[in-house]
Amino acid sequence: MSRVYNFSAGPAMLPEPVLMKAAEEMLDYNGSGMSVMEMSHRSKVYLSIIENAEALLRKLMHISDDYTVLFLQGGASQQFAMIPMNLLGGNRKVDFIHTGTWTKKAMTEAKLVANVHVAASSEDKNFSYIPENYTFSPDADYVHICTNNTIEGTVFTHIPDTGNIPLVADMSSNIMSEEIDVTKFGLIFAGAQKNLGPSGLTVVIVRNDLVGKHGENTPVFFRYETHAKEKSMYNTPPCYSIYIAGLVFEWMDQLGGVKAMEEINREKAQILYDFIDESEMFTSPVDPRYRSLMNIPFAAPNDELNKKFISEAGKAGLLTLAGHRSVGGMRASIYNAMPVEGVRKLVAFMKKFEMENK
Ligand code: PMP
Repeated sequence: MSRVYNFSAGPAMLPEPVLMKAAEEMLDYNGSGMSVMEMSHRSKVYLSIIENAEALLRKLMHISDDYTVLFLQGGASQQFAMIPMNLLGGNRKVDFIHTGTWTKKAMTEAKLVANVHVAASSEDKNFSYIPENYTFSPDADYVHICTNNTIEGTVFTHIPDTGNIPLVADMSSNIMSEEIDVTKFGLIFAGAQKNLGPSGLTVVIVRNDLVGKHGENTPVFFRYETHAKEKSMYNTPPCYSIYIAGLVFEWMDQLGGVKAMEEINREKAQILYDFIDESEMFTSPVDPRYRSLMNIPFAAPNDELNKKFISEAGKAGLLTLAGHRSVGGMRASIYNAMPVEGVRKLVAFMKKFEMENK
């Protein structure tokens, strides 16, 4: 067996102990005589899996009973549509801080049913920073932000104060990578396939007073209330993805929780940014004040060198380093499950590449 260091933006690496435990339990989960993939989602044994996953998520993110945790499907993209369906009030007005591809997609959905106001945008500088001056509409139903911009490589270092207006955050690419104060948010959502587990699962953490605000024409299936009432069991949930996410939460818990993850993530990002800053070949397009800990775009001076880098890195066991197809260059996604050793190997390879291609 030979495992590579996989820098994919998602689906991404999972912790090896999690994969090994899942392999061990594949044919016979906990004496049930069947795989988690084969069991009824309403069985006692599965109920204990989903309840344990939720309890650990609550523990790790310090989520109080004022919030409902939902395990849904449809990806973060489905939330772009579901959030306005559920959170719009009479004003039908949404404020966005526009920071890249994923807020653009969310705005496209919101515009179908709401007046969208851009409270701030970093489009003027190709989304290379996070705006800090915003003017929120006093009558907005909610404010939408994307805390970590997976493609552009930026992160919010301060959470905007929206007063009484609920703050909605797309945390798909940085959930549980650093400590956050959940009480600052009305709703947090994330596709699982970066920091939490396999694709197929979308986690929604929503303040209880925001559940049940949907319009009367909202399809039953797309109401948060429906899934909240049934504890994510209105229909068959993504059973296996929830099971793996539960194992990932156990792994994080054993390592010291989100605080410990954050320390390791800061160390990993520092190693890579320090090298990029001292390199005469590689550059980062991001304003240093807003550099993401999770997604690190960088580039060599021309496309030919970028292509060569990606190809040779692949041969050295450092995979999926191509930048998003919309921006080119390179991008290293270093989520919780990427070991420090993987980042050290990448930096050693970059040094060697720079020497050989001067
Ligand atoms: N938001 C962010 C920040 C993302 O990185 C992604 C996926 N890369 C999405 C939303 C879309 O997620 P999904 O594919 O789960 O719909």
